[in-house]
This record gives sequence, structure tokens and C-alpha cells, in this order.
Amino acid sequence: MSKTLGLYISVPFCRAKCTYCNFASGVFPASEHGRYVTRVCEAIRGARARAEREGWCLPGRVGSIYLGGGTPSTLEAERLREIFGAIEESFAVERDAEITVECAPGQIAADFLKAMVEVHATRVSLGVQSMVDAEAAATGRMHTRAVVEEDVRWLREAGLAVNVDLIAGLPGQTMTSWMESVEAVCGLGVEHASLYMLEVDEDSRLGRELIGGGARYGAGLVATDDAVAAMYEAGCARLEQAGLRQYEISNFARPGAESRHNLRYWRREPYLGVGLDAHSMLRNREGRPVRFGNTDELSEYLAGTAEGSAEVVDRAAELEEAWFLGLRLADGVSLTAMRAEFGDAVARFDGVVTKLVDDGLLRREGDRVALTMRGRMLSNEVFAEFIGIPVFGVIAKDESSDLPLLTR
Ligand code: SF4
Repeated sequence: MSKTLGLYISVPFCRAKCTYCNFASGVFPASEHGRYVTRVCEAIRGARARAEREGWCLPGRVGSIYLGGGTPSTLEAERLREIFGAIEESFAVERDAEITVECAPGQIAADFLKAMVEVHATRVSLGVQSMVDAEAAATGRMHTRAVVEEDVRWLREAGLAVNVDLIAGLPGQTMTSWMESVEAVCGLGVEHASLYMLEVDEDSRLGRELIGGGARYGAGLVATDDAVAAMYEAGCARLEQAGLRQYEISNFARPGAESRHNLRYWRREPYLGVGLDAHSMLRNREGRPVRFGNTDELSEYLAGTAEGSAEVVDRAAELEEAWFLGLRLADGVSLTAMRAEFGDAVARFDGVVTKLVDDGLLRREGDRVALTMRGRMLSNEVFAEFIGIPVFGVIAKDESSDLPLLTR
């Protein structure tokens, strides 16, 4: 288990709102940037006092920092320096820390790039989504393929590793146009790529149109679920062929270029989220995971009323999480490690694992259980099978804690 902390900083500002976006981000006046960054810096500086007050263990050394959102590259260079100033004051950032900044193609000012290099950023994640200009424009993206190619070139010249995000299932996308995007990404020579399947929910304009009907955002032009799954599968195969190994359902990297920060989430290592709609997972003094998140209302966050309540994860929920977060990884979960952490309770999942292996959704190789390709495409259905199994029997009191704990 990592002894270092992952720090996530949310920057919710964007130049335009993409039709498929379901994040707590928006187009806000630049005058809000200064107030927001001031609040973020206060939260970073106040994190240790809050952790001590609440009884949480907050590692002092930071192994990874991730600025996401939103589009952090919309910030002025000086704001980026302010954030890193607050981090350096409050934590010991490891010399080889992975530091990622999400950027929008065509929206990286020269002085912002200079500031990223100064704060020792190691990688940039570019929200590309499609390398086909008409598709990108139809969703509200403001770049072209030529702009992406130019940005990748100068980011890499500046010594930064690059991730490119793509989405399968955008309006008007076909297998041919999707593979044109994937092929173009392979041609960029980037260290990392992420392939997502379009998410359909009430939190995006396109999602609401897909659910409720309408023609404004191109919902009628979205491919069927089966066609999107076929795009995902073909995209995975092409990236693997180009040397980008799939290490998680949506993530591909050259050896050694996997996102260390994102691996924390799936390995259940501690992270602190700062800013709008940011989420955290730390451990309390008894070693139990504690999860908490901030408001997704900018006005509340700026007013300083953002501290949400924390939830201690009980042992049964922690075991479920260990399954469905671990199974996201291509290497899957190690049964030996699971038994070492959770004891005999792991055996209660034998029936589920056997059934999912028989259904072709999981594969079991020696000590490890992992998703098959079909399982990756139906991952939510697979994960649902691991929830609600009565693993620890009766409710008892944990000797080491004041908290009630489900136990055998
Ligand atoms: S740039 Fe990213 S965060 Fe901003 S609106 Fe588009 S998808 Fe959402």
C-alpha cells in the first residue's frame, strides 16, 4: 500500500461546454479564476489541520498530482504557480512525482506551458475526443486535427509525456471515422491514450437528448450500443498493435507510462481531492477508508461552505470495492492478496466468479481473476454481481474501533 498521497485539484473552467460533458464544469468569467484559486490554496493549506481534527491520516509526501476539471489550461500561468506554491508549502512533493495537467488542444498559451515546466509537470492530458474535425466541432470542441498534432509536437519538445482522450459513440461517428481517429492517435506517437465509450446520463445535454428525445445535439446520429462496443474493441486492438498496452478498461500506455495517479484510484491508495466536486479517500486512525467529497455548486464552493460530510467505508463495502476497482485493471485482482487483506470472506465470492467465468465475462489464470474483453464492455453488469453479497454475516463490534463493523 502506498505511503504517499495523490493530490487531485479540480479546475472547473472551460471555454465552451461540450455537448456530451457530464462534469461539474462550465464557462465562467475569468474574474472567478482568482477567487477560485484562492479557495483552492486555502483548502490545500488547511488540509492537515482538517485531517487532524477529523482523525484522518494524511500522508505528508505527495507522489502524484493531477489537475483536472474542467480545463486547467484556461487558468492564467500565475494561478498555476499559486496552486503549486500552496502545495509546496503544505506537502513534501517527491522528486519523481508524476504531475499531470489536463489541457484543451489549441488552448495552451506559451506562458502557461512555461509555467507547467517550472512547476515540474511531467505529463499533459489532452481532451481530443475525435481527430475528425466535423465530429469534434459537432460536440462543441474548438480544435482541429492539425491543432492537436501541433500541440502534441510542442508539448513533447518541452519534455512532457502526452495522453490523448478519445470517445467512441459521438454523434455521426461510424466505424470508419472512429478508426480514422484511432489511427491518427497511433501516428502521434503519444505515451498514453484513453478510450471511453459515450456515457448517457441526465448530466449532459447530449445524454438528456438521448434519454428524452430531441434533435439539437445529434442524439439521433449516435450509433447503437453494439456498434459502439465494436468501435471500442477495434480501437483497443489497434492501440495494442501500436505498442500502447491496455492496463485498465479505458487506459493504454507504453511500458512505464501508465498514469500513476489514476492507478491509485483502482489500487485504493490515498488521495485528497481539492476544489469543486473533488472527491477524496483517506484512512482514519483505525485504518478504515474514509470517503468525502466537495459540493458541485461553484457559488457554494466560493462561499467556503464546501466541506461535505465524510463516510467511513465498512469492511463489506471495502471488499466489494476491492473487487470492482481491482477488476478494472487488465491484470485483475490477486486472490492471494485479497485473502491476506480480507481473510475467508473472499471465498464468499467463489460462486460469482465461477458464474462470470462460465459466462465469458471473467478469466481466471492461477492466482488472478480478470475481465475478458467482453467483460470490459459489460463491466457495469459484472461489477453489479459483486455488490450485496452477505460476506461477513452478523453485525459485530470491531475491537480496534468505535465504529460498528460487519464481521464474520
Ligand atoms: S472541455 Fe472537458 S470539462 Fe470542459 S466542457 Fe468539454 S468535456 Fe467538459
